[in-house]
Amino acid sequence: MTKERPELFAWPIVTAEDEQAVLEVLRRGAMSGLDVTRQFEREMADWMGMKYALGCCNGTAAILAAMWACGVGAGDEVICPSMTYWASAQPALTLGAAVNFADIHPDTLCLDPADIEHRIGPRTRLIVAVHYAGYPCPMDEIMSIARRHGVKVLEDASHAHGGLYRGQMVGTFGDIAAMSLMSGKSLAIGEAGMILTNDQTLFERCVAFGHYERTVGTRWAPGVDLQVSDESLRQYAGLPLGAVKHRLNQTAAAMGRVQLRHYGERMAEIQSAMNRFWDLLEGTPGIRPHRPPKDSGSTMGGWYSARGLYRGEELGGLPCARFCEAVAAEGAPCSPGANSPLHLHPVFHTLDFFRMGRPTMVSFGQRDVRQGPGSLPVSESIGEIAFSIPWFKHDDPEAIAEYALAYRKVAEQVDALLPA
Ligand SMILES: *Cc1c(COP(=O)(O)O)cnc(C)c1O
Repeated sequence: MTKERPELFAWPIVTAEDEQAVLEVLRRGAMSGLDVTRQFEREMADWMGMKYALGCCNGTAAILAAMWACGVGAGDEVICPSMTYWASAQPALTLGAAVNFADIHPDTLCLDPADIEHRIGPRTRLIVAVHYAGYPCPMDEIMSIARRHGVKVLEDASHAHGGLYRGQMVGTFGDIAAMSLMSGKSLAIGEAGMILTNDQTLFERCVAFGHYERTVGTRWAPGVDLQVSDESLRQYAGLPLGAVKHRLNQTAAAMGRVQLRHYGERMAEIQSAMNRFWDLLEGTPGIRPHRPPKDSGSTMGGWYSARGLYRGEELGGLPCARFCEAVAAEGAPCSPGANSPLHLHPVFHTLDFFRMGRPTMVSFGQRDVRQGPGSLPVSESIGEIAFSIPWFKHDDPEAIAEYALAYRKVAEQVDALLPA
């Protein structure tokens, strides 16, 4: 590498426009208000072509509320990929449900549709589809399995804002979508999350769960805006059913409105930079792009946490970690793996969250769906089949070529790294 280029990677891009918008909220003392948040919600919903959007304090909160809205409760089961961020799955435990972890497909790093159906039982309520590192899940297959069994689908779009699956934006296929908008994500506005749905009942349940002052219907909540149409919930209006407070800080909403206005253009530049990087590496032994085929109508959105696929058998069995070390020595950041598989974590085996004298996963009479080592081989091999690549925010052909060369050089001179 001829020189360090931190500006290629800086994110989010914050300008005077963001600063003005945030200052306006601060100077009004309107951080806990709803006017800017409502505008941001409307703009998010319009951008995605959805009826309802609900801002939340973070993505984890959005997932918890969305799970509850979908009917997940004590003794139920949720199907979720094991190789994802914990917040895709763990809120199910808070609700007293168990997580039946499914494996990922080695080419997509997303839920493998072939590993879903046999996990569905009488208490399965929800499938969580995570568009991992921007790669759109096979939503056609997932939705048809879910519909066949009367199970709801939550899309976790925290990695894939603006990504397309067969020409349609991810987050618009399932019954409901939740996404993180925290500072490291590709749509980055601080600690924030968003729920999107076309289903009025699911939307209202999410509001009722964690947005107490946005429901009306009783003397406990005068003068606020949402009349919950479900009689069984309306009697509780005024207090949040989840005993949580999910309101989005309006400084984040203000930044969100500005970031969203520029997101399409910035995402397009990321896409052209990242595709350039992979086009340069086409045909390199041992490594493959983690992106959908070019003519599929599917895209990687903002390429959050961009990965490459590693196929060590083409490189004489060189361990992925050794490959990454050598690439890093050439000056390009590279680390093996992605998220650690969740199904092996003790939280999903022995934690007794409810202090009932038995593990949370079986606290409410569920069948035991805990899985030990060897049960989800693709997820467990993540450290050998994937590695990180630079996440370019600017399409600088010369710099990108240098980074790509580092990967190609190591892959093509692998003999020097193998034991003699
Ligand atoms: C970041 C993330 C979340 C959680 O969002 P927070 O805003 O950090 O609470 C959920 N799911 C996935 C896949 C994530 O990467």
